[in-house]
Amino acid sequence: MDETVPTICIVGSGAAGLAAALAAAETARARARACRVVLIDRARQGEHGGNTRFSPSYMRMAAPDRVAPGFEDDLNEVSGGRMDPAYVKRLATEAPATMAWLMGHGIAFDKPVYYLSAGPPRIQPIGGGAGLLQALEHAVRTAGIATRYACEAERLLVASTGGVEGIEIRAESGSLETINAHAVVLASGGFAGNGEMLAQHLGPGADSLAPISPGTRFNTGDGIRMALAAGAQPAGDWRGMHAEPVDPRSRNSAPVVLLYPYSIVVDSTGRRFFDEGAGLVHETWETFARTIHFATPGRIAYAILDAKLYDIDGYQRAIRSQVPPHQASTISELAALIGVPAVALQETVAHYNAAATGDPALFDATRMDGLAAEAALSPPKSNWCRRLDLPPYLAYPLIGAIAYTFGGIETNAAAEVLGAGGPIPGLFAAGEITGHFYGTAPNAVAMLRALVFGRIAGAGAVVSCLRRTARR
Ligand SMILES: Cc1cc2nc3c(=O)[nH]c(=O)nc-3n(C[C@H](O)[C@H](O)[C@H](O)COP(=O)(O)OP(=O)(O)OC[C@H]3O[C@@H](n4cnc5c(N)ncnc54)[C@H](O)[C@@H]3O)c2cc1C
Repeated sequence: MDETVPTICIVGSGAAGLAAALAAAETARARARACRVVLIDRARQGEHGGNTRFSPSYMRMAAPDRVAPGFEDDLNEVSGGRMDPAYVKRLATEAPATMAWLMGHGIAFDKPVYYLSAGPPRIQPIGGGAGLLQALEHAVRTAGIATRYACEAERLLVASTGGVEGIEIRAESGSLETINAHAVVLASGGFAGNGEMLAQHLGPGADSLAPISPGTRFNTGDGIRMALAAGAQPAGDWRGMHAEPVDPRSRNSAPVVLLYPYSIVVDSTGRRFFDEGAGLVHETWETFARTIHFATPGRIAYAILDAKLYDIDGYQRAIRSQVPPHQASTISELAALIGVPAVALQETVAHYNAAATGDPALFDATRMDGLAAEAALSPPKSNWCRRLDLPPYLAYPLIGAIAYTFGGIETNAAAEVLGAGGPIPGLFAAGEITGHFYGTAPNAVAMLRALVFGRIAGAGAVVSCLRRTARR
């Protein structure tokens, strides 16, 4: 390699890495400076793209030119006031410009119909994450950047002065190579694909969480480990993750079944354990998936419904499993089909039905309808409480599947990685690898921040790289 050519290495070719690579190439061109951009991914071509490839990529925006109303306040609230306000402000400010930039690269947006219940407004790239990946990859190739696949980043090379000066990689052949670089952008995702780290940070049993998509398994926390070893500060909620309830029988990616608010959910002993109607689906799915995995026997639950499901307008939108539900004409037959004690399930349903005394005409799947069970029911059912009495009875098995983790490395609003004494020279990061979420995932924000801060990181890396090479 010609060591005099300013070089930027980008690790990971999901949304954050591709946005960084493209922004880097464009920033160098705008400054009429030759800059070499090297993009690497540990996955083989076609399997690369991590979570991005399988993500529907809903983004919390009212339209491509404006974020959803209350954006900053909502993020502050959902994180219990722990999200960095400067980071959130930059995200909100740069989101429209980032969407315009993506549209300039051929990506079109739509307003999706979201599952069943209402929520903050969202936009979605046409073709979801796979479409985004395809368009960004085309732009990256057109900008003259080649991606090296099956090429795993292992270690950051750090000068005695503390600045990053390259990266050690394991090539497909198995050999170790060094890429000398004046700036590195880490965009290699979180640690949802690393059982050992999951158990360490989320507790015993977390290592058996099913990855929600085939891309999730590539995110093994390598970038986090490398950055921490180079002096980066940890940040974000290390016990936090985004998980969703999925049908374990399905082979689809992310086979969510989001009908549980309108059902009763029982564990394998036939008992309810959760207020199914505590909130809108995007407000409860994370806790629900976590509770199934960490607090139910056998880490499995069953959503029990009756034929009134079929009267809910568009109910199919809430089902991404291709496997039909178990179906029976009595509760005891249904219990036999799912292997739950029949007497216990019959008792649970009878108890629930006795408490479902509200006016069923009030039922409205699209909003919190206030149709609550009588206060004596434990656990409560706060909304959508109708009797289960119209056969056939249906059951969907559900397990909790992990999408991404919240713990990561600290970055500022310029996507610079922070060490104990401030930004680590030449080191940037974006996307899931960065630790900014706390408590609960802010709905429809993960993809947005990957794109916004990926773009900021790529542009910033060029400026840093040119500054550092000018000094030599
Ligand atoms: C099923 C699903 C649904 C989702 N839905 C939404 C949604 O609707 N809205 C939303 O905002 N978010 C959603 N998310 C989350 C969002 O899609 C992700 O947070 C986002 O795509 C992450 O982008 P990223 O670039 O940070 O990481 P990724 O897209 O995961 O890319 C990381 C890349 O790094 C590579 N890599 C890892 N380690 C190394 C290494 N050592 N060396 C080289 N390369 C490496 C991986 O192979 C991968 O290609 C969803 C996620 C999933 C899985």
